Amino acid sequence: MTPFPCTACGACCRHVDLSEQTRFLDRGDGVCRIYDEATRRCTEYAHRPAICRVDVQYQTRYRDQMSWGEFSALNSQACIVLQQIS
Ligand code: SF4
Repeated sequence: MTPFPCTACGACCRHVDLSEQTRFLDRGDGVCRIYDEATRRCTEYAHRPAICRVDVQYQTRYRDQMSWGEFSALNSQACIVLQQIS
């Protein structure tokens, strides 16, 4: 599998309140409590939750439903939407 083309924009980390699956990370204003706004990085990146790992989500939940390319493209589209509301 080619790696997911994450640009590290942080848009997903600043809107964890928008998904039931990431809401547990919300510090209260939609931003992930593990996200560092100064560096725009995840402070626990190596140990981030499975829901934050596109490849893990694909392997564990979606690989029987679509190709990695399709799943990756869907996630990239979600990135664009999140970037537009950031
Ligand atoms: S745990 Fe890390 S990768 Fe996941 S939303 Fe929070 S800051 Fe982003």
